[in-house]
Formats: sequence, C-alpha cells, structure tokens
Amino acid sequence: MSNFVFVIDTNERPLDPVHPAQARLLLTQREAAVFRRFPFTIILKTASTETTHSIQLKIDPGSQTTGIALVSNDAVIWGAELNHRGQAIKDSLHTRKAIRRHRRNRKTRYRQPRFLNRTREKGWLAPSLEHRVKTTMTWVNRLRKFAPITGISQELVRFDTQALVNPEISGTEYQRGELAGFEVKEYLLAKWGRKCAYCGAENTPLEIEHILAKSKVGSDKVSNLTLACHDCNQKKGNQPVEQFLSQKPDILKRILAGTKAPLKDATAVNSTRWELYQRLQETGLPVYVGTGGRTKFNRVKLGIQKRHYLDAACVGVVEKLTVKTTKPLLIAAKGWGTRQMATTNKYGFPIRYRTRQKAFFGFQTGDIVRAILPTGKFAGTHIGRLTVRATGVFEMVTIKGKVSPVRAKYCQIVHRVDGYSYAA
Ligand SMILES: [Zn+2]
Repeated sequence: MSNFVFVIDTNERPLDPVHPAQARLLLTQREAAVFRRFPFTIILKTASTETTHSIQLKIDPGSQTTGIALVSNDAVIWGAELNHRGQAIKDSLHTRKAIRRHRRNRKTRYRQPRFLNRTREKGWLAPSLEHRVKTTMTWVNRLRKFAPITGISQELVRFDTQALVNPEISGTEYQRGELAGFEVKEYLLAKWGRKCAYCGAENTPLEIEHILAKSKVGSDKVSNLTLACHDCNQKKGNQPVEQFLSQKPDILKRILAGTKAPLKDATAVNSTRWELYQRLQETGLPVYVGTGGRTKFNRVKLGIQKRHYLDAACVGVVEKLTVKTTKPLLIAAKGWGTRQMATTNKYGFPIRYRTRQKAFFGFQTGDIVRAILPTGKFAGTHIGRLTVRATGVFEMVTIKGKVSPVRAKYCQIVHRVDGYSYAA
C-alpha cells in the first residue's frame, strides 16, 4: 500500500488526497497532470468547489530521523521519514575550524586573544540542531501547500511529570500496560541513560527494577525504581542493593544518589523539540502535544509496528488507527553542496578547480532525471541523480549503480534538486 496522492486544483488549492488508483485514473483520463514528483502531487485541470475534510499533521521529532504522518478520519494516509544531516554539519564545521586554526597559526605575529568577544542570541541552537528544526518546518510548510491540514500534533516531552508524582502507580499497574506505566518507563530511560543501572548493558530489553525489593516493602514511587537487564534483575532478586553491589562501590554510589535526585533532573523537554513547538505555533494552526510515553502506549495498545512515521501517527490521544500506507516517503537531507572552489589531493595540493556556475545545459548536480540512452554499454532508460560537468557529458547514480557517460541531450528532468534525496 503506497502513500495517498496529493491533489491540488487548477488554482493550486489543496484538496483531499486520493488513493493511488484514483490518481492513476485521473491521469489516464487526462483530468489531471503530474505537478510534482516528491511528494507525489497531481494538479486538476479545472477549479474545484469540493469541500475538504480535515487532516491532522503528526510529527515525532528524532535526533536522526523525524517521523511525519498525515491522519484523516483515524487513518494514516501518508507517511514520511525525514533523515537529518546533523552529524554531517557538525563534521564539516569541525573540518573548517581545523583548517582555519592551522592557517592562522602558520606564520603569525603575536595577537591579543579575542576569543571571548562573541555573544549568542537568546534561543540560539547549534547549527546541527537548528537544521533539524528548519528541515522539519520546510516539510510542514510544503505539506500544507498540498493537503488541507487543519491541525498539528507533535511529541514534545518524553514523559508526563504529572503522571509520575501520583504515588498510586503500582507495580502491577504498569506491567499490565497502563498509560502511567509507559510514562514511568520513559522517565526511567531518560534518568538512567537507556542502560542497565547495574552492569551498563545497552541495546537490551530493560526491566523496571525496585531498588529496595517489593518483598522488603520497597515502595513503587519512581525514586525507588531503576532499570536493569533481565540477568541483573534475576541475580539481584530481593537482596539489598548495598549487598548486591558490595564489589562495585562506584555504581552503588551512583544508584543511591539517583534515588535522592529530584524528578526534574532527568531532562524532559529537549531544546530542539521546544524550539520546533514554538515555530509550529507560528503557522497559526492549533498545535497539540503528546508525550513519548503516550506514543509508545498507543503503539503497543493498537498493535502497530515500530516505524518512525507510525510513531508519529501515534502521537497524542489516539483511540483507533487504520494504517493505509506501508511505504512512507524516505527523505534524506543532503544539503546544497560546498563553497569549496578547489579540490585537493590527500596532501592538500589543489588538483581541480570548480567553475563559477552551477548549471550546465539546463541541469544541476542533484537533479533527478530520466535518461534514454540510444547506444553504448548503458543503452536503455535510467532514472537517477545527476552529476553535471561543464562539457555536457554527465554522470548519473541510479539504484542499480553508476551510469556514465550520460549526455545532456538524452536527459529529461524528473525532479529539480531541492536539497533532499528521495526513496519510496
Ligand atoms: Zn545488567
């Protein structure tokens, strides 16, 4: 099942997205034309007076991947997974810093230090984080052009502190899969750093563990809880933690300190999500927020697969959900290239210079094109991402690999470069 297809009328008014089969019908009957390839949008040849139904745009912001889902009438009709390039930004800024440092230290007279004369605006985010907020906003604004979105839901915090202060949360309750239990688990994951508190094991199922065992009248308050892997949980049993960790005083100290730490110590809202929330509100649409605990609770309750776009669909209060698409659009932020004018070899010696222009024969590097090659080793039709050359003899990367040479005259544009790469 593919994503639904966006439909706009001839005045570019967004209408209800349609099933791919219906879009195909509209295209073959020549009532509509392809407007845009990614996300796939068709434009009707007439103006429409049809009333549209409300669509909720749901977002699950992540550090590497942000899930996006469009939900209409309790059905997920469109999904996307947006891959950020935070690490690439960080790396290239680091490289730039190192090159500058080297250059400025090469042959210099003494200069007075002037490294503490910079100020940062209020709400400043590191470039890699700012990028995350901005690319997400780009997609929110883009989707609003193609679909009648009437509201936005965002996962804002990992857990709900209100649910945690309630001392009635009992051990049996969260094991039975109550909402509060999911909030507790998310809180503990954040507090104990997603690893076993006793042995430090990561990427293993973690169980909620009573520091003072329940059989020894240990309380169910979150201050008495931690996370342990199955082995440690079994090994500890109902021993007092002091006895269990008598050989590991450092870990014991950390755990005892953890039991006394106040609730707010585990960071609930991260700054990037908060900034995104603020900018989403600037769209003027109502913005609803949810917790990570509730997202997980919904997903488990409704028996939904763990995918980024489906997590997004589970944000907030969800009673029922039908998944009508299993193929989200995979979007990867690629940036807009560099400003570097010379390519160097491994010794830093310039070997190649860039031209001042970016486009040749109407094509740019990054354009997705269809090339119909009449002869040669690669004779046939290919669709892929272009790398342009001033000579007009290009290269192309397709799913099957590299295609070269590709002459400009055999290329037809499919989707102009827009800073992202796409896959279905
Ligand atoms: Zn362990």
